[in-house]
Amino acid sequence: MPPCCAGPGHSVRIAPTEDLTPKCQAEKVGWFTKTKESIVPSNLWTKCQKCEEAIYSKDLAKAAWVCPKCSHHFRISVHDRIELLLDERSWQELNAHIKTADPLKFHALTSYDERVKKAVQKTSANEAISTGLGTLEGFPLAVGIFNFDFMGGSMGSAVGEKIVRLVDEAIRLRRPLLIVSCSGGARMDEGVLSLMQMVKTSQAIARLSRERLPFLSMLTDPTTGGVTASFAMLGDVILAEPGALIGFAGPRVIEQTIKETLPEGFQRAEFLLETGLIDMIVSRKDCRATLAKLLRFFSAPAHHAPHAEGPSNGSDVSTAF
Ligand SMILES: [Zn+2]
Repeated sequence: MPPCCAGPGHSVRIAPTEDLTPKCQAEKVGWFTKTKESIVPSNLWTKCQKCEEAIYSKDLAKAAWVCPKCSHHFRISVHDRIELLLDERSWQELNAHIKTADPLKFHALTSYDERVKKAVQKTSANEAISTGLGTLEGFPLAVGIFNFDFMGGSMGSAVGEKIVRLVDEAIRLRRPLLIVSCSGGARMDEGVLSLMQMVKTSQAIARLSRERLPFLSMLTDPTTGGVTASFAMLGDVILAEPGALIGFAGPRVIEQTIKETLPEGFQRAEFLLETGLIDMIVSRKDCRATLAKLLRFFSAPAHHAPHAEGPSNGSDVSTAF
C-alpha cells in the first residue's frame, strides 16, 4: 500500500504528492495541498470584517448575518431580507422583467451592456432593486429591496422606473411603502438619465405623501450618493441598521473640499441619529417587530378633535389608509 493510505478514510497526508494513489490525489486535503478538490468548502467559515472573528457560516445565517461577537451587520441578499421581514410565502414580485435599455451605449473599460449582462448572470435578477407586494405580521405593504451585488445597488433608469411603478401600486392598493436601500448611488454609466431618477423617485414619494400613505425608509450599509440624496431620506420614518454607512459623497472628497478633518464615526448611522438626520437605529433581530409597530401606528384610526360648535356626529374618526 502506498504510504499515503492509512485506511479507508485516507486520513494521513504526509507523503509527497507523487506517492499518492490516484484516489488520494483526487481527494487531496485542502489544508495540506490547497487543491481545487478541497473537502472543506471555502464558505464553511466566514470572517467578520469588523472584529475578524471566524464564525461558522451556518451559525451566522441563523443569526440573520449579525456577528455574535461584535454585532456587525453583514450585507444580506434580497432573498434573506424577504425571509427576515415578510410573512412566509407572502412575497409577490412585480416588474421583474424591467431592465436598462443602455440608452447612451456607454463604454469604459468594458461596455455597459457587458457589465449589466455579468450582473444579471451573477444575481439572477434583471436590475439592482426587487419590488413587490407582501405582508409583515399581517399588514399588507409594497416593498422595494436593493441588491448591492447588482452593480453596487446603483440607481439607473430601470431602478427609478421600478420604484415609481411600486409607488403607483401602493397608491392603487392603498398600502404603505417600505424601501430597504443598499446602494452606491446613481449609475453613472447612464449619465444624466441616472441623475434624473433622483427627481423622478422624489416626485413619486411626494404623490404617495399627498395620498396620506406612509413611507418607511430603511437604510442599510451602504446607502450613498443619489439614493441618499433623493427618496431614501424622504421617509416618514427613516430607520437604519447599526453601523451603516450613510452619506452623499465619500469622506475623503468632503475632507478635501472643506479642508477639515471629519469627526470620528462621520457618516455612520449612529452619527446621523445624533445629528437628527435619521429617526432610529434598529438591529436586524428587532427590525420586523419595529416595522410592525410602526405599521400598527400608521394604520390606527386617526382621532380628530371634534368641532367646537355642535355635537360630534361620530365622523371624527377615520382610518389612516
Ligand atoms: Zn464581529
